[in-house]
Amino acid sequence: MNTLLFSHPDCLDHDTGYGHPECADRLRVVLSALEDETFMFLDRRDAPLATRAQLERVHPPAHVTALLDAIPADGHGSIDADTVLSPGTGRAALRAAGAVVAAVDAVCGGEARNAFCAVRPPGHHAEPDQAMGFCLFNNVAVGAAHARATHRLRRVAIIDFDVHHGNGTQTFCEQDADLFYGSTHQWPLYPGTGSVKERGMFGNIVNACLPPMAGSPEFRHAIQTQLIPALDSFKPDLLMISAGFDAHMRDPVGGLDLTEDDFVWVTQKLIEVADRHAKGRIVSVLEGGYDLRALANSTAAHVKTLMVA
Ligand SMILES: [Zn+2]
Repeated sequence: MNTLLFSHPDCLDHDTGYGHPECADRLRVVLSALEDETFMFLDRRDAPLATRAQLERVHPPAHVTALLDAIPADGHGSIDADTVLSPGTGRAALRAAGAVVAAVDAVCGGEARNAFCAVRPPGHHAEPDQAMGFCLFNNVAVGAAHARATHRLRRVAIIDFDVHHGNGTQTFCEQDADLFYGSTHQWPLYPGTGSVKERGMFGNIVNACLPPMAGSPEFRHAIQTQLIPALDSFKPDLLMISAGFDAHMRDPVGGLDLTEDDFVWVTQKLIEVADRHAKGRIVSVLEGGYDLRALANSTAAHVKTLMVA
């Protein structure tokens, strides 16, 4: 079976202003890298807009309304110093969440083995009731909630190898025994959550903290000894990935020392988990990654690995 790619030109219209690391060029370089002939057999689809009902499985209705009402008709607005709004932000954010919903439908419906969502704004910092850290809606959480609501899948695991802790995704998962969130992230770093002591109400949260400058050995050790065993005991019906590439050594925001090879390796390990428990079903979603060259190369390496699953 094939690998699907979900994206949409509307995701380029979220304008964060001059010099902002979470810029439209990120998505341009990712899509351009995926134009290489290596990806000839990648099945490309336009992301639909997420519906209110899909968002409201994760975000309270009043918060969704307030967020969409805050989108400016011209110029820029902001939620906080990092989280900027432009006239195109609303549709971009709805496409980003909608991509994950559509990817879940395709993978859980048996149309594809796995899928990658090349979208922005990212989502893993978005709390149910608070947009923050470049993130509007929690795209991966909206997808996980959709999988459970419409595909009769009980257990969904989300693995997050972005250099930052996905505080919003952890909040979404921590009180539900049928959700699992596992993260490798630099510690300490923004947003300040993700201590190893945060284990979730059912032991369903695993935070593997990596010290600044940690590289391949520490990352692979954490995945192998903490996340994989926890996933094997959780036995997900669907594996989702918050694929941030800002733990790359070239990244200006993160301070870890990973390379493309590490992203290939972790993708292979997660494919093995999905094969053991979830009939191979993986939906992967772009999160961070702010060095354009490292982001393009790492995303290409990740997607190429998904294609040979
Ligand atoms: Zn990040």
